[in-house]
Amino acid sequence: MNVSLIIAAGGRSQRFLKGQKLKRKTTKLLHLLAGKPLLSLTLESFQKIRGIREVLIALPPGIKKQVQSQVLSQCPDLKVRLVRGGATRSESVRNALQKTNPKNDWVMVHDGARPFPPAGEVQKLLLKANGADGIILARPVVPTLKKVSGNGRIMGTIDRNGVFEAETPQLVRRKVLREAYRKNPRALFATDEASLVESIGGRVKVHAHSGWNVKVTTPEDLLVAEAYYLKNAGAGLKPVSPSVTVGFGRDTHRLVEARKFYLGGIRIPFEKGALGHSDGDALLHAVSDALLGAAGLGDIGEWFSDRNPRYKNIRSEKILKKILEETRRKGWRPTHIDSLIILERPKLGIYKKRIRKQLARWLDLDETSVSVKAKTQEGLGPEGEGRAVTCEALVMMEKIQ
Ligand code: MG
Repeated sequence: MNVSLIIAAGGRSQRFLKGQKLKRKTTKLLHLLAGKPLLSLTLESFQKIRGIREVLIALPPGIKKQVQSQVLSQCPDLKVRLVRGGATRSESVRNALQKTNPKNDWVMVHDGARPFPPAGEVQKLLLKANGADGIILARPVVPTLKKVSGNGRIMGTIDRNGVFEAETPQLVRRKVLREAYRKNPRALFATDEASLVESIGGRVKVHAHSGWNVKVTTPEDLLVAEAYYLKNAGAGLKPVSPSVTVGFGRDTHRLVEARKFYLGGIRIPFEKGALGHSDGDALLHAVSDALLGAAGLGDIGEWFSDRNPRYKNIRSEKILKKILEETRRKGWRPTHIDSLIILERPKLGIYKKRIRKQLARWLDLDETSVSVKAKTQEGLGPEGEGRAVTCEALVMMEKIQ
């Protein structure tokens, strides 16, 4: 079965945006649900449906660029065409229908505001469509339904037996749907595809299901949908990736004579310096390792092996800059850093400020977001005996938007 998927996203989201200062060029479908635009989630739901050969999205005017950058760039595997929506949902679907490939006998229409159509049930639509002109996802109506007169008086209770709520996706034969648009003079006011096909005598079936296929109409719906998504209910939903992360780093270098002493990129005048393959800057190494840790990129030894002659006597700011670049590439930037230098001598009092300033500059942070602390080891251990310097660092990073 070859299917053209049409996502009806042409609406102006009036109910959703009610009360908000009316932004003309927006749609609820770009609202974020757990960090992702609603429309992206809707598209993702169809990624694994077999039989879909093309995807067309009918959009309200003026938001094509936003959809391209915020939605389509996130799902590069999907071949999607953007089509101009119409004044009604039905007109939007018609505009898209005209652009579908005639080689595809079937058209599946889905509301852009339904992010979680149950994938298993959607696949069943395709299996059960044969012999009909259309088949739609539907749920037996659960609430008690009243017929009410204009003045509020109940005229009767509607028998729920055999009453279904029509949802999407709706799968219809392309030829029949086109015919319905031609023949039905009120086609542009139809609220779903089934009713169009019915209106010309076509046979449409329901595929009843009892799953949850929310249509996000109000901001409250969005909250509920987000809670559902975050709970990871429903098969195949991916867990949400965190937007902050932390990393820890620690480094020790031996202090020996006839070496320069660098800490945080600052040259510290002292009779000894840190031994190392690089310039031995233990603070920059601890910070670099913390950055790598936060971004899940391994450790400094994996990136700058001390067996590689290329890195002999390398200045550690080069290491830090390269690692910053890699974490940025992974989508992270530091937001705060705390660090500790454990050193008996020399006293760092006057250098702490300079180190802090330097780190803030390299990490592109405000100085208030960079902390450099120093302490002695009370004469104990290799640091206390003046034989080593140890540094520790903790960084917090956030996702680059
Ligand atoms: Mg080191």
